[in-house]
Amino acid sequence: MIPRIVPLCQTPAWQKQLNNAISCPTELLRQLDLPNSLLAAANKSAKLFPLKVTHSYLARIEKGNVNDPLLRQILPLIDEQYPHPDYSTDPVGDLDATPVPGLIHKYRGRVLLMATASCGIHCRYCFRRHFPYSEQKPSNNWRQAIEYIKKDPGLHELILSGGDPLSLSNSKLFRLLNLVETIPHIKRVRIHTRYPIILPDRIDQALSGYLHQHRCKVVVVVHSNHPNELDAQVQNALKLLNNNDITLLNQSVLLAGINNNVDTLIQLSERLFSCNVLPYYLHQLDKVQGAQHFAVTDMQAKTLIKALRHQLPGYLVPRLVRENSGEPSKQPILG
Ligand SMILES: *Cc1c(COP(=O)(O)O)cnc(C)c1O
Ligand code: SF4
Repeated sequence: MIPRIVPLCQTPAWQKQLNNAISCPTELLRQLDLPNSLLAAANKSAKLFPLKVTHSYLARIEKGNVNDPLLRQILPLIDEQYPHPDYSTDPVGDLDATPVPGLIHKYRGRVLLMATASCGIHCRYCFRRHFPYSEQKPSNNWRQAIEYIKKDPGLHELILSGGDPLSLSNSKLFRLLNLVETIPHIKRVRIHTRYPIILPDRIDQALSGYLHQHRCKVVVVVHSNHPNELDAQVQNALKLLNNNDITLLNQSVLLAGINNNVDTLIQLSERLFSCNVLPYYLHQLDKVQGAQHFAVTDMQAKTLIKALRHQLPGYLVPRLVRENSGEPSKQPILG
C-alpha cells in the first residue's frame, strides 16, 4: 500500500468552511429562495456592516421564509439605516474602560481581552458593529495585555472575547493561552464564542484536548438565541467540550421577532440543557445604532422571564440583565 502523505500545514476543514462563508447578498437570497425585492436594502445595509454567514448556519434556515428567526439575525435590512437619538456607536462605554489596546477592565476580578476582531458570523444586532477594531488591535502578540494582567494580582479570571476568539487558529490561540498559564493569580479562563453554534467543526479534538489539560478552569460561554440553532452537529460539538471537563454556559440577546416569546425561550433552555449547556444571561439589547428594530421593552422582557420562572426549573431560567456603562456589574432586570 502506498503511504498517504499528509501535508504538515494542511488548512483545517473549519478554516475552509469559514473562507467559504457567504458575504454576497445576491448569493444569500438565491441560496434561500428569497425574493429579489430584499436585495437593494441588503446591499445598502451590508455596506454599514458586511453580511457574513457560514453554510452550516445557512442550512438551518428555512428556505423561502423571510421571517425565519435565524435569517433575521444575519440578513441586512433597511431598518438599519434609520438613526435613533437614544442609540450610539459605543453603547456600553467600552472605549472608556480600555487600559491597554485590546483589553477591557470594567469589573472587579475579571478582565476581558479582545483576542481578535474577526467573527465567524455577523449578527445584525451586535453592539460591536461600529467598534473601531483597527485602532484597538492588541499589538506585540498580546505582550502589553499580558503585562497588565501580570501586574494586577486582584485579577482571577481572563475572559477571551472579540470579535470571536475561536477565529484564531489553534496554534495562535494555544500560544496566547500558554502565556496565560504562567500568570499564577489567573484561576479561570472564560471563552465567549459563537463558533460551536455557527461552525461546529471549529470544535476539533486538538482544541478540546488542549483546553482539557490547561492549568486554569475553562468555561465556554456560547451564544445561542434560538432553539433552531441547536442541531445534532452543534450538540456533538458541545458534548465534545463537555466531555473534556469544560463548563458550558449560554448567553442570549432578547430580540424582537426572533425569540421574544415564551415558547421559544422555553425550548431554547430545554434544548441547551440537552446539550449540557446551562442558560446564563438573557441580555436586553445594547442600544447600538442600527439595531433599534430588535428592541424589546423592559415590560415585555419582565413578563417573559416571569413566565419562564413559572414553567421551568430555576436552573433553566437565564438572568435577565442589561449593561449600563459605568456600573460595577451587569444590571439585573427584575420581573
Ligand atoms: C460582561 C463582561 C464581563 C463579565 O461579566 P460577568 O457578569 O462576570 O459575566 C467582564 N468584562 C466585561 C468588559 C464585560 O462586558
Ligand atoms: S459573533 Fe458576537 S461579536 Fe461577532 S457579530 Fe455576532 S454578536 Fe457580534
